[in-house]
Amino acid sequence: MDEDFEKPVLHRIETPPFYAAAASIRVLDSYGGLRINGKAQVLDTQGEVIPGLYAGGEASGGGSQHGIGRASVHGYIAGTYAAQERSA
Ligand SMILES: Cc1cc2nc3c(=O)[nH]c(=O)nc-3n(C[C@H](O)[C@H](O)[C@H](O)COP(=O)(O)OP(=O)(O)OC[C@H]3O[C@@H](n4cnc5c(N)ncnc54)[C@H](O)[C@@H]3O)c2cc1C
Repeated sequence: MDEDFEKPVLHRIETPPFYAAAASIRVLDSYGGLRINGKAQVLDTQGEVIPGLYAGGEASGGGSQHGIGRASVHGYIAGTYAAQERSA
Protein backbone atom coordinates (compact mmCIF):
# COMPACT_ATOMS: atom_id res chain seq x y z
CA MET A 1 0.00 0.00 0.00
CA ASP A 2 1.23 3.49 -0.89
CA GLU A 3 0.54 5.29 2.38
CA ASP A 4 1.02 8.78 0.88
CA PHE A 5 -1.72 8.37 -1.75
CA GLU A 6 -3.72 5.53 -0.17
CA LYS A 7 -3.42 3.45 -3.32
CA PRO A 8 -2.33 -0.13 -3.78
CA VAL A 9 1.17 -0.44 -5.22
CA LEU A 10 0.75 -2.02 -8.64
CA HIS A 11 4.34 -1.86 -9.83
CA ARG A 12 7.43 -1.44 -7.70
CA ILE A 13 10.11 0.72 -9.25
CA GLU A 14 13.21 -0.54 -7.54
CA THR A 15 15.90 -1.16 -10.12
CA PRO A 16 18.01 1.77 -11.46
CA PRO A 17 18.57 3.59 -13.69
CA PHE A 18 15.52 5.77 -12.96
CA TYR A 19 14.17 8.39 -15.39
CA ALA A 20 11.61 11.14 -14.79
CA ALA A 21 9.62 13.42 -17.06
CA ALA A 22 7.68 16.53 -16.12
CA ALA A 23 4.02 16.49 -17.11
CA SER A 24 1.34 19.12 -16.71
CA ILE A 25 -2.42 18.91 -16.99
CA ARG A 26 -4.54 20.95 -19.41
CA VAL A 27 -8.31 20.98 -19.88
CA LEU A 28 -8.57 20.08 -23.54
CA ASP A 29 -12.31 20.49 -23.96
CA SER A 30 -15.65 20.30 -22.22
CA TYR A 31 -18.79 18.35 -23.01
CA GLY A 32 -20.95 20.13 -20.48
CA GLY A 33 -22.33 23.63 -20.61
CA LEU A 34 -25.29 25.75 -21.59
CA ARG A 35 -28.01 24.06 -23.64
CA ILE A 36 -28.42 25.69 -27.05
CA ASN A 37 -30.65 25.16 -30.07
CA GLY A 38 -29.71 25.09 -33.76
CA LYS A 39 -29.45 28.89 -33.78
CA ALA A 40 -26.99 28.79 -30.87
CA GLN A 41 -29.63 30.44 -28.67
CA VAL A 42 -29.34 29.48 -25.01
CA LEU A 43 -32.28 27.53 -23.60
CA ASP A 44 -33.54 27.73 -20.04
CA THR A 45 -34.29 24.72 -17.84
CA GLN A 46 -37.75 24.48 -19.44
CA GLY A 47 -36.24 24.34 -22.94
CA GLU A 48 -37.39 27.89 -23.77
CA VAL A 49 -35.19 30.37 -25.61
CA ILE A 50 -33.62 33.06 -23.45
CA PRO A 51 -34.01 36.09 -25.73
CA GLY A 52 -30.79 37.73 -26.84
CA LEU A 53 -28.47 35.14 -25.27
CA TYR A 54 -26.26 33.02 -27.53
CA ALA A 55 -23.52 30.54 -26.71
CA GLY A 56 -21.22 28.10 -28.42
CA GLY A 57 -17.91 26.36 -28.30
CA GLU A 58 -16.77 25.17 -24.92
CA ALA A 59 -19.46 27.22 -23.17
CA SER A 60 -22.18 25.05 -24.72
CA GLY A 61 -23.03 21.49 -23.82
CA GLY A 62 -24.11 18.51 -25.83
CA GLY A 63 -22.97 17.36 -29.22
CA SER A 64 -20.03 15.13 -29.85
CA GLN A 65 -17.76 17.70 -31.49
CA HIS A 66 -15.02 19.64 -29.85
CA GLY A 67 -12.29 22.04 -30.70
CA ILE A 68 -11.77 25.10 -32.84
CA GLY A 69 -14.11 23.84 -35.57
CA ARG A 70 -17.01 23.59 -33.14
CA ALA A 71 -16.25 27.00 -31.63
CA SER A 72 -15.92 28.67 -35.05
CA VAL A 73 -19.13 27.17 -36.44
CA HIS A 74 -21.10 28.06 -33.32
CA GLY A 75 -19.70 31.58 -33.47
CA TYR A 76 -20.73 31.93 -37.10
CA ILE A 77 -24.24 30.64 -36.40
CA ALA A 78 -24.68 32.76 -33.27
CA GLY A 79 -23.40 35.88 -35.00
CA THR A 80 -25.64 35.35 -38.01
CA TYR A 81 -28.81 34.91 -35.96
CA ALA A 82 -27.93 37.62 -33.46
CA ALA A 83 -27.49 40.10 -36.34
CA GLN A 84 -30.82 39.02 -37.84
CA GLU A 85 -32.54 39.36 -34.49
CA ARG A 86 -31.15 42.86 -34.04
CA SER A 87 -32.20 44.03 -37.50
CA ALA A 88 -35.70 42.50 -37.26
C1 LIG B 1 -3.64 22.08 -25.04
C2 LIG B 1 -4.83 22.15 -25.98
C3 LIG B 1 -4.70 21.71 -27.25
C4 LIG B 1 -5.77 21.79 -28.15
N1 LIG B 1 -5.62 21.35 -29.43
C5 LIG B 1 -6.63 21.49 -30.30
C6 LIG B 1 -6.46 21.11 -31.66
O1 LIG B 1 -5.39 20.65 -32.10
N2 LIG B 1 -7.52 21.25 -32.51
C7 LIG B 1 -8.72 21.76 -32.09
O2 LIG B 1 -9.64 21.88 -32.89
N3 LIG B 1 -8.90 22.12 -30.79
C8 LIG B 1 -7.89 22.01 -29.89
N4 LIG B 1 -8.07 22.38 -28.58
C9 LIG B 1 -9.39 22.83 -28.14
C10 LIG B 1 -9.64 24.26 -28.58
O3 LIG B 1 -8.56 25.09 -28.18
C11 LIG B 1 -10.93 24.73 -27.89
O4 LIG B 1 -11.98 23.80 -28.11
C12 LIG B 1 -11.36 26.10 -28.43
O5 LIG B 1 -10.34 27.05 -28.25
C13 LIG B 1 -12.62 26.53 -27.70
O6 LIG B 1 -12.95 27.83 -28.14
P1 LIG B 1 -13.98 28.66 -27.29
O7 LIG B 1 -14.07 30.00 -27.99
O8 LIG B 1 -15.24 27.89 -27.08
O9 LIG B 1 -13.33 28.84 -25.85
P2 LIG B 1 -11.96 29.53 -25.45
O10 LIG B 1 -10.94 29.39 -26.54
O11 LIG B 1 -11.63 29.00 -24.09
O12 LIG B 1 -12.32 31.07 -25.38
C14 LIG B 1 -13.03 31.60 -24.28
C15 LIG B 1 -12.56 33.03 -24.10
O13 LIG B 1 -13.39 33.69 -23.15
C16 LIG B 1 -12.57 34.45 -22.32
N5 LIG B 1 -13.31 34.65 -21.06
C17 LIG B 1 -13.50 33.77 -20.05
N6 LIG B 1 -14.23 34.33 -19.08
C18 LIG B 1 -14.52 35.58 -19.51
C19 LIG B 1 -15.25 36.65 -18.93
N7 LIG B 1 -15.85 36.54 -17.75
N8 LIG B 1 -15.33 37.81 -19.63
C20 LIG B 1 -14.75 37.93 -20.85
N9 LIG B 1 -14.03 36.94 -21.44
C21 LIG B 1 -13.94 35.79 -20.76
C22 LIG B 1 -11.31 33.65 -22.16
O14 LIG B 1 -10.23 34.48 -21.77
C23 LIG B 1 -11.12 33.12 -23.58
O15 LIG B 1 -10.39 34.03 -24.40
C24 LIG B 1 -7.02 22.32 -27.70
C25 LIG B 1 -7.12 22.78 -26.38
C26 LIG B 1 -6.05 22.70 -25.52
C27 LIG B 1 -6.19 23.21 -24.12
